[in-house]
Order: sequence, then structure tokens, then C-alpha cells
Amino acid sequence: MEKEVSRKVFLWVLALALMGCAVNPVTQQSQFSLMSPQQEVAMGQKLYPLYTQMSYGLFQDPVLQDYVQTVGKRLAAVSHRPNMPYEFNVVNASEMNAYALPGGKISISRGMVTKLRNEAQLAAVLAHEIGHVSAMHHATFYTRQTVAGLLTGLGASVLQASGTAGGDLLAQMGVLAANLVLMKYSRDQERQADELGMDYMVRAQYNPAGFVQTMAMLQEEGKRQPSLLESFFSSHPLTIERIMASNQRLEQYGPDLRTPEALRQAPFEEHTHYLRQVAPAYALMDEAKENLNKGNGVRAASLLAQATAQAPKEALIWVYRAMAEKTAGNGREAVSSARRAAELYPTLYHARYVAGVILFHEGHHRESLEQLTEANKIVADQPSVIFYMGRNWEAMGQRDRAARAYYAVLKRVQKGPMAQYCYQRLVAWGYLR
Ligand SMILES: [Zn+2]
Repeated sequence: MEKEVSRKVFLWVLALALMGCAVNPVTQQSQFSLMSPQQEVAMGQKLYPLYTQMSYGLFQDPVLQDYVQTVGKRLAAVSHRPNMPYEFNVVNASEMNAYALPGGKISISRGMVTKLRNEAQLAAVLAHEIGHVSAMHHATFYTRQTVAGLLTGLGASVLQASGTAGGDLLAQMGVLAANLVLMKYSRDQERQADELGMDYMVRAQYNPAGFVQTMAMLQEEGKRQPSLLESFFSSHPLTIERIMASNQRLEQYGPDLRTPEALRQAPFEEHTHYLRQVAPAYALMDEAKENLNKGNGVRAASLLAQATAQAPKEALIWVYRAMAEKTAGNGREAVSSARRAAELYPTLYHARYVAGVILFHEGHHRESLEQLTEANKIVADQPSVIFYMGRNWEAMGQRDRAARAYYAVLKRVQKGPMAQYCYQRLVAWGYLR
């Protein structure tokens, strides 16, 4: 009994030590927080590369990346927390999305940028996210457990539910993306981020009409292609009330900034030139993904051959082309497409992983292991990566190493065909009874 009490006291003390109070920079009020600013920054630094990979890596255009970084920093400088180590990037997801991680790490997707028409609209998306960072909305969401879970248990639950031992490449590639855990903001937090966002836009000399334009675009696209906005709307719910409030707020700003010049359309067009050039190829890729989901590898491969002809430097399109070719039964072409993807973007997890799986199935075990080793460096300890390493070692007659890999998989995934395969091998080899 006494032991139980002292254990409880110890846990309370521990909990109190982990939590703290911080002064909210926006409200100037003391606020309960799970993280110190140092922890917040450390957490953001840890999660940013992982979330970027989960969003299919960076869009590989330094011109656009620098531009978004510049626009973002211009807004961050006039925010309530100008001294956070802000970073902005464009991730390569086709879905329309934008998110802020603790410590001011902010991403916008290629799909979202493709739908914007001027710099003020881009500023609106970034300023809204900066608003969340400034008002410390994430302070109680990203707990240590969230981070630990993200870094270790990634993918395990999805694999358990839908795990496949070989054939379904696409499902396995999606595992990483399906784990993008995003913060769900409350209505009040959304209202506050809108208010702050518009305010920061004006302070940074943007026409605040860009904010209202972006909302109208989101509303329209939400009706037209709801699936592409699912993640964004689930973390930033868009309500009629929000739209009306932003329209009203717009009327309060004076005429000085409400000019076409302050929308900054020309610089936006200049810096999104490459993105708009490859956008049709990505549209073909998205159409091919739908065909792949229906098992139509031949049609998908033909669409992706067109897409790579139009945008030959886009690694992600080559990744899908490799998967489509493999699905269509064209292993040799698939190997060459997968190699191309990994060469074009050596630190893209999906490129390394898909190359590893295809090379395994085509019997190139040593090269497959090299690709999987790289995948494992980019996002550590993914069960399906370890699984295919084991399969290669098994095929090369290195039973001990294979057994160790299968055992490591079973520690993370207990159900589904992949786990079954590992279990059966370990039993057959006498490692398990
Ligand atoms: Zn929001």
C-alpha cells in the first residue's frame, strides 16, 4: 500500500516536472504547456525530416523552395514569436495540405501551391500556420508520447491491418504517408489563426484579400475534389463562419494595401514556373495512381511513361512508374525505372524502398540490400524495410541474419501476412517453437 502511494507521488512529481507554464506570446497570459520552448524546438527539428518524408519528400526545385522560405520568413518576422527558428518547405504530396510542427517548422504541399494564383494567397496559407505557432496551439498536443510513438511505432498498426507479404507494393508504400499524424485544431484556434494570419499579412505589406481568395479556393476545391483536401480540412476545419469572419475582417483594413500590386502575382508566377511546367505530368501520375489502385498496371504504366517523358527529372513519378511496370508484369523495366528514381533523389524514402522491393523480386539481392539500407537511414526501422532485408538474406543463404530481421519484424507487427511469413520461417528454422 505504502509503496503504491509513493509510486503515485513519484508519478505526480514526474508529471509536474515535465509540464510547465509559459506566457502565451499572443494573449500575454500564462498558459499551461507540456513543453518548454527548448523542447518545442527540439521536437520540431526531430519531426520535420520525418514529416517531410511522409509527405513524399521535397519538391525538387530550389527556386521555389527559396521563394517559399523568403515569403514565410517575411511573415514570421512580423509575428508574435519572431525569434523561433522558422523553416518553410514545399513537400511533394499531390493532396492539398499545409501544416505547422512545434518550433515553427512549416510545410505546404505541391498540390496546394499548384492551386494558388499569387503571392498573397501563398502568404495567407503560411501566415495562418504561423498564427498557430505564435499562439502556441500545439503546446498540449505534441506530447513526448506522440513523438516517441511516431519515431518507433511508425507503420506497424497499418501493416497489421492491411499487411502484405509481397505483391501489394502500393499499399506498402502508402504506409508511411498514412501515419502523418496532424494536429486537430479547435474552432477557436482556427478563428484565432485566421485573425493572426491576416494581421501578419498586412504587417508584411500583403493585400489581405489574398486570405479571402485562398479560403474561396479551398471551399471550391473542397466541393470539387474532397479527397484531396481531407488531411487539410481534418486539421483546419473550414466553416462558413470562418469565411464570413474573414470577409468582414477584410473590410476593416484600409485601402492602402488593397491593391492588385500588393497581391504580388508576377513574382509568384515567376517562381512557380517549373512547378506549373511539371503540373500536367503530376496530373497524369495522379490518374495513374487511381488505375494502380484498381489493379490496372498496364494503363498506369502507359500514363506514367507519358508523365516521365514530360517531366523526366521528377523522382516520385519514376517511383510510381516502377510500381506500375512491376504490377503490369514488366520486371526489367521496373528495375530500370526504380534505379532512375533513386539516382534522381537519393534521399527520398519511397524511391529507396520501392527500388529495394522491386530489386528483391527480380533477384538482385545485393543491390536490393543496398537500396533498403539507404531507406533505413532515411526513416529508421520500418518493419517492411527490415522484412525485405530479411528476405534478401534468406535468398542469399544467410539464415542467421534473416532470422534476426524476421524476429525484429515480429517485435513490431504481430498480425497480417508479413508477420505470418516471419513467424513460419522462425518456426521452420527452429528459432521459435
Ligand atoms: Zn488552422
